[in-house]
Amino acid sequence: MPTAASPPSGALEALIQAHGARPEALLQILIATQDLAGGWLPPGALEPIAQALHLPLGRVMDCASFYSFLHLRPMGRYRVLFSDNITDRMLGNQALLEALCRKLWVEPGRLSEDGLVSVDYTSCTGLGDQGPALLVNGRPIARLTHQRIHEIAERIRQQQPLDDWPAALFEVEDSIRRSDTLLQLEMRPGAALEAALPQGRDGWRQEVDRSRLRGRGGAGFATAVKWATAARSPGPARVIVCNADEGEPGTFKDRVLLSRCAHLVFEGMSLAAWAVGAQTGFLYLRGEYRYLRPHLEAVLAARRAAGLLGRSILGVRGFDFDIQIHLGAGAYVCGEESALIESLEGKRGTPRIRPPFPVTHGYLGLPTVVNNVETLAKTCLIALHGGAAFAATGTQSSTGTKLLSVSGDCAAPGIYEYPFGVRVERVLEDCGASDTQAVQVGGASGTTLAAYEFGRRIAYEDLPTAGAFMVFDASRDMFEVARNFVHFFAHESCGFCTPCRVGCALLRQGMDKLAAGHGAPVDLVEMEWLNRLLRQASHCGLGSSAPNPVMDTLQKFRPAYTQRLRHPHFEPAFDLDGALAEARQLTGRQDAAAHLPPSPEEAQP
Ligand code: SF4
Repeated sequence: MPTAASPPSGALEALIQAHGARPEALLQILIATQDLAGGWLPPGALEPIAQALHLPLGRVMDCASFYSFLHLRPMGRYRVLFSDNITDRMLGNQALLEALCRKLWVEPGRLSEDGLVSVDYTSCTGLGDQGPALLVNGRPIARLTHQRIHEIAERIRQQQPLDDWPAALFEVEDSIRRSDTLLQLEMRPGAALEAALPQGRDGWRQEVDRSRLRGRGGAGFATAVKWATAARSPGPARVIVCNADEGEPGTFKDRVLLSRCAHLVFEGMSLAAWAVGAQTGFLYLRGEYRYLRPHLEAVLAARRAAGLLGRSILGVRGFDFDIQIHLGAGAYVCGEESALIESLEGKRGTPRIRPPFPVTHGYLGLPTVVNNVETLAKTCLIALHGGAAFAATGTQSSTGTKLLSVSGDCAAPGIYEYPFGVRVERVLEDCGASDTQAVQVGGASGTTLAAYEFGRRIAYEDLPTAGAFMVFDASRDMFEVARNFVHFFAHESCGFCTPCRVGCALLRQGMDKLAAGHGAPVDLVEMEWLNRLLRQASHCGLGSSAPNPVMDTLQKFRPAYTQRLRHPHFEPAFDLDGALAEARQLTGRQDAAAHLPPSPEEAQP
């Protein structure tokens, strides 16, 4: 295992050259440098990178400080990150983290004195079907128990290299519970391309248009329209990006597609490239899924060897296309397509001002199609069976099937594929949920449903979703569910615009204030005002959707809030009298004058 030191200059130089010393490779170079330096970016490594890429040092620092998986201070040789989605909380992740910290004599968020280990939380790791989970040096360990924690602590104490840990410890299951057209598809690699190429580029786009395929990332934009716009846009080259930055809390279906059906995803990228005339493809892989990379690289290598990537694909002159994998580094906002493109260009993931849209001016100013993993995989079905057959399932506005990532209070969490239009109550029945109080559809930014809404349908015309489906039974406190989501948004706000940066922090403070017993009705009025501010003034969808969980639960589970309103009038969140206790003790004062005067309601008999 590497030690926490500056990488040797020769190794750093070789690493930079391996990435072509291109400024847009900055994020990839920083990730690789951190690996080389034992888990952090020593200051001495940043200047040579800036010089080699002809970038100001400030620009390198800006990128390095933006991503939560990049570290500017030393981290442990073993870096343990506990997944902290609400479903991990429900499964006891906090007690497990505390137990590990106790065993290793380390405080959460701090480096152990001997530099051996650091333990902290991270946002959802995409393992909600088998939580609680953690990442150790980027490798996942799911289904945590106290016994597993004990084993992990022992192996770290003995400084056992991760490669010597039992492979079973790192096993991640696919948990497919219900499959339909996509997950049942057994396709020979290249078969979809062989079907689409004879149609020509225009004919293939028309076939996709007939399917009425819409983006599976949640927004539901028509895929054929996006492809046609890119195909029409002038440019010396065009780009296809597969958005595998699956960061929405509670979703993990892209993880399963990438580990089980990577051929379908890559073939979908090639089909998109054929449609628009693209030469370059990127799979933007979220940092939490980095452990999938060796498998994905192996699939890409097999496709190159089979003539399915590279020059003159399947012998068609002029159809040159290849795919490279670009790693993310722990930034939820990069799921937004323009932020993702900024990240691809080696910058911090700040969403761009639009228009122009990426489809006309994207990666390095080139027409760029950004499609979700599931959307691309679905195009193989259209190529093989035709657009009309695809459109025959689902609803009028939502054709085909949808993969749901089901987690939370149910007997069988996992992946469920249904034709669009399936009712929420059907999913609950299939996954073995009982006594269900609420379902969160679409992750933290989605919709909280109360029991009277379980007849609603998963479809763009009713409940659009990227796939997260979190179940909460009657024992759960919906205030705490919303508070977890609000903390998530405050942590993930990129800070570019003030309404989101400040509004998310204020919303988090308001929820914490209620949780601490300092709430008054005026605090709910304040939250409603913040809701309007965030919706109207945020630059991107993260800010405008951040108040969703609070507003939904306030409306549908109001007693969870009102029972926390302990004061009729405004009460500061900061307990000044309590903070002065130490000073009183030091001065031996306990008389009334050494305390703050009581509030009017406290003064009442
Ligand atoms: Fe960044 Fe939030 Fe503004 Fe989006 S809304 S640009 S995430 S600060």
